[in-house]
Amino acid sequence: MGHPSIYDRIEKDRPGVARLKVRSAVTLLIAVCLSMAVIVIWQAWSSRQYHLHGKEVAMSNLAQTLASQAQASIKQADTLLFALVDRLENEGIDETRLNRLQRLLSAQRSELSQVHGLFVYDEAGRWVANSNGAEVGVANNSDREYFIFHRDHPDRGPHIGPSIKSRSSGEWIMTVSRRINHPDGSFAGVALATIYLSHFLQLYDSIDLGNNGVINLIADDATIVVRRPFNEADIGSSLAKSPLFTQLLPKESSGTAMLKSTIDGVERVVGYRRVEGYPLIVFAALNKDEVLAGWRKESLLGAGIVSLLLGFLGVLGYRLIKLMKQQNRIQVELLGYQEKLLGLNRNLELLALEDALTGLANRRQFDLFIQAETGRARRNQTGLSLLMIDVDHFKAFNDRYGHLAGDECLRAIAPIITGHIKRPGDLAARFGGEEFAVVLPGTDYVGAFLVAEKIRRAVQAANLQHSESPEGMVTVSVGVCGYDPAVQTRTEDLIGAADKALYVAKASGRNMSVIAN
Ligand code: GH3
Ligand code: MG
Ligand code: MG
Repeated sequence: MGHPSIYDRIEKDRPGVARLKVRSAVTLLIAVCLSMAVIVIWQAWSSRQYHLHGKEVAMSNLAQTLASQAQASIKQADTLLFALVDRLENEGIDETRLNRLQRLLSAQRSELSQVHGLFVYDEAGRWVANSNGAEVGVANNSDREYFIFHRDHPDRGPHIGPSIKSRSSGEWIMTVSRRINHPDGSFAGVALATIYLSHFLQLYDSIDLGNNGVINLIADDATIVVRRPFNEADIGSSLAKSPLFTQLLPKESSGTAMLKSTIDGVERVVGYRRVEGYPLIVFAALNKDEVLAGWRKESLLGAGIVSLLLGFLGVLGYRLIKLMKQQNRIQVELLGYQEKLLGLNRNLELLALEDALTGLANRRQFDLFIQAETGRARRNQTGLSLLMIDVDHFKAFNDRYGHLAGDECLRAIAPIITGHIKRPGDLAARFGGEEFAVVLPGTDYVGAFLVAEKIRRAVQAANLQHSESPEGMVTVSVGVCGYDPAVQTRTEDLIGAADKALYVAKASGRNMSVIAN
């Protein structure tokens, strides 16, 4: 029972430790790879949000600037209209004034480059005056949207109608109009200022909005007034169903959004704003795909680099795990060898403590044992006895029967001795040569003497032939000594005392047990 605890621990720990290590490494590797992937995805996502947000801000700012520009351009023309309406309502229209008015309109028009023309129509839609020198009283504009609007609405504010192609010049123009009233408040006609769409388009075209960017100037009734890129078919078309009108404008008069165009189906990053004082909305938008093109390239490059790194990490991890598994295998093998060595060691230990001939404890074990037991007896005040047993006339036995028979005789005596010591704490040893020793812990000299006598008689009863002995058989003499810590301060003193008793037994005729006095 050499090292059961160490052995057991190795047995128990071995498989667990090996598996745990590899599993931890695999978990770590997966965790690192996952973390890297999550970080890259997170970064790509936030970079995308950053790109989009940046463009939303840019579109919002652009819408603000364009709204100011539109407001300023229209305001200039509208101011003329306002004054014109005021004058016509207060002074009325007659032939002499008409000629002056016509000249005044021409002069005012030439002051404002964006203004295409200034026109006055009476309640029947007839041309009353215009800035362009066209003949009055000939054409009739009662079919125009602005005319119908003012005729049917008593509001005095400016009205912006759908853009039209001028009947006088054939150019695309925006109409800004105000109603003229008779003194009694009834409809007296319309004052109209027309603004070149090209005035807006020149500015819009000069702004870099990528290949698919859009700028819209939209009337309050959702019809398109100007659109960049310019396409005649788009002018006047309605955006009433677009989310701008169904969702955004009802909530906020300005803002940003991501919208899919109802005109070309392209998804765009949008900034929009109502023009202050006029029923107009400015809308600036960039193609979302174009906005994200740079981000996409950047993200793909990042993903590529990270994939490469992950691949590299994977290969390294795979090799590491393989190495660990290999090491674990070697460790298991080593533990196997260790186990074998422990077994061998245990055997060697036993051999080192055992007498090869008789199988009894050898002298070394006896020395260790009696040292420990005298110590214990001294501390615990318990009894302890020692028997020294010597084979009688053994030299003569060897001489008569040979050395091998002598060995055989010693081997036969050993079990006789062990057969008479019953307690598990007792020890029988070969002291040397044909001499044996028996240590009996917890036994006084009386009990020890009884054991000695039993052994002596048993050897005699075994009747091992010895013709050279006066008894005719092998006999033993025994020296018995009880341990007295007061007298025998050293272990050697106890052995010496037992030896003396043995000497007395020999001197007294052999085949007897003698107690030391
Ligand atoms: P006594 O009765 O006084 O003990 O006489 P004895 O002959 O037994 O004593 P002695 O000390 O003179 O002789 C002991 C002999 O034991 C000497 C030796 O040859 C023999 N002997 C010692 N060890 C062994 C052994 O291992 N095998 C054999 N065959 N003989 C041994
Ligand atoms: Mg002897
Ligand atoms: Mg002898």
